[in-house]
Amino acid sequence: MDSQAAPRPAGWGARVRAWPVWELPRWLAVFVLAVTAGWAAALGAAALQTRFGLRDLALFALLLGFGAASIELTRRSGEPAGLIRDVYGVWQLPMALFLPPVYVLAAPVAKLAFTQWRTRQTMLYRRVFTAASVGLAYGAASWAFHTAAARLPGVTTGPGYHWLAWIAAATACAVLRWAVNVGLVFTAVKGSDPTVRLRDLEFLREPLYNDAAELCLGLVASVTLAANWLLLGLFLPLVTLLQRSLRHAELEHASRIDAKTGLLNAVTWQREARVEISRASRTHAPLAVAMLDIDHFKAVNDTHGHLTGDAVLAALSATLRALLRDYDLIGRFGGEEFAILLPQTDAATAAQITERLRAKLAEITVTTGNGSSTQVPLRVTVSIGVATLATARRDLDDLIAAADVALYRAKAQGRNRVCVSTDGPA
Ligand code: GH3
Ligand code: MG
Ligand code: MG
Repeated sequence: MDSQAAPRPAGWGARVRAWPVWELPRWLAVFVLAVTAGWAAALGAAALQTRFGLRDLALFALLLGFGAASIELTRRSGEPAGLIRDVYGVWQLPMALFLPPVYVLAAPVAKLAFTQWRTRQTMLYRRVFTAASVGLAYGAASWAFHTAAARLPGVTTGPGYHWLAWIAAATACAVLRWAVNVGLVFTAVKGSDPTVRLRDLEFLREPLYNDAAELCLGLVASVTLAANWLLLGLFLPLVTLLQRSLRHAELEHASRIDAKTGLLNAVTWQREARVEISRASRTHAPLAVAMLDIDHFKAVNDTHGHLTGDAVLAALSATLRALLRDYDLIGRFGGEEFAILLPQTDAATAAQITERLRAKLAEITVTTGNGSSTQVPLRVTVSIGVATLATARRDLDDLIAAADVALYRAKAQGRNRVCVSTDGPA
């Protein structure tokens, strides 16, 4: 017989305490809950001020239907593990502009339920937070647009000059939506990973291009909607295509980048390093390769656990990226081993650069454990081996082998140091 007692149903308090959101740092959990509560309050307040009409409800249902159809048609391309982007705002912008704010505040609930059901189940609080920030962002845009439309002469849906005023107001509100959304989401992402930079998250060519495409398509869909509701169907293939191209770019990025550290993965690093080396050989330019290995990293894992080990890897990687030049290639070569290629760098300069890296990396402090009683500041050191492309031709394998020998020497001499390869060109 089964000797295990059946679990007793937990009380409300215990259930709330078991929410995964409490595993976040405390202020971040409060932020996530405050945004969600703010959204619920805005939704309630907007609902009280709205007179629900059949025409509005029909348009709402139509736009939700198109949203669901776009999710369904792009479902197979999946969702990335981290920050999830999509272009379904093409349907939400007309909702914000043509319907009272309550509709666009409520729309993310439908989307949340639909993606959780049809695409994949994920941590519910994340989806709820995303829904709340999207709802608040579009709600703000909708409120601003309706306020502007009531005050500004000419902001009506009519021909000629009025159209331009209308589009200018709609664009301003769409940009407001973007800013509110980026602000809320970036705060949450930064809270769970302090090494993230706004520039890397939002101000790169791909995300900016994507957001701009979503905004333009949303505006054109809105203008089209003013002419005839049914013409909106023309946008369904365009939204699907845009969403696929977004996923394609994300997959391409994921195939180059190591997820844990954000550095190039080993295969990509080697491929790009080969190109740099053949260019340097052709032009007789100096070039250096450094192999970097964390000292006694196994002890970090054994003492503080793998998650802390991962946090150390992420912190060191972020510092490497910050300290090196944009055209230096930084890759995660193995578990806690990094490969760095420095173009236009001779042996003396490479020694200076890597010595500076070693000193800066030794200053990084990672806090172990999130529970306040067990927090311990943790530091690690690294050993670095450097080899340079000297006068004679050498290929990548020779350079890595020479740098590895130098790294081995740095370890043997007591770690936390840089050794430059002394063997001549092969
Ligand atoms: P040494 O100074 O000689 O380099 O000592 P070490 O302990 O660092 O030795 P080694 O480089 O062989 O250790 C590799 C360790 O790195 C063992 C493995 O558990 C750990 N490791 C590898 N990949 C990861 C990872 O992705 N996350 C974490 N947390 N640990 C990893
Ligand atoms: Mg090591
Ligand atoms: Mg190692």
